[in-house]
Amino acid sequence: MEKNHWAIYILSLSLLFTGCNGQAGNAATASDVVASPENHSVSETPAIVDKPILQNEYRTQLQREYSLRHYGEAMTEIVPQAVVVHWTGASTVESTYNWFYKPNYSDGTLNVASQFLIGRDGTIYRLAPETSLCRHIIGYNWCAIGIENVGGNGDTENLTEEQLTANIQLIRYLHRKYPTIGYVFGHYQQVEARASGLYRENVSGYYSIKADPGTWFMRGLRENLSKEGIVFYPE
Ligand SMILES: [Zn+2]
Repeated sequence: MEKNHWAIYILSLSLLFTGCNGQAGNAATASDVVASPENHSVSETPAIVDKPILQNEYRTQLQREYSLRHYGEAMTEIVPQAVVVHWTGASTVESTYNWFYKPNYSDGTLNVASQFLIGRDGTIYRLAPETSLCRHIIGYNWCAIGIENVGGNGDTENLTEEQLTANIQLIRYLHRKYPTIGYVFGHYQQVEARASGLYRENVSGYYSIKADPGTWFMRGLRENLSKEGIVFYPE
């Protein structure tokens, strides 16, 4: 434990000196590494496995193009104001990771991705720096951290208790780290969530109907987290 502690301490220091938000650290630790919180006194921080998707100049360029087109502002970094919860519609961590890995979508625009991915067993993977703009929900990518949960194939509501527990821990951690986060909603609640005032979309007619991550999951999150001062919407 002591050895790991020092390794993490050195990693934290190296991140400080690179002056970035974790991108360099992710690149330097391409294999899966269990990261610990920057603040060791926060005992409730869940174990997070860094499993970075490809972040290169091309992805940065596509992030800028996407945000300029949809939000009227070229940006690669976000100030998190919401957390949006999803299911993948796929059945394994690897298939989703492989899908998100490439910078570009088939049409040459920014590929879909989320900052976090949760396995069926509740393992939390961090795919991108928490404040890196990811394309996971129309209208909110400029301000929302996305959590994808493996499951929901064919829109079947089948996420696990382990995933619910992991999401509760992760959202609690994110909310304490980023006090700017005021809202948590499921992808299927994207219309109700416009009441937050956070919805922004310059391309008219750009919209898709979603069912993820299901009402059981959102009720579980609301019942466990609403007393933290986070706004939820009725399931
Ligand atoms: Zn979704």
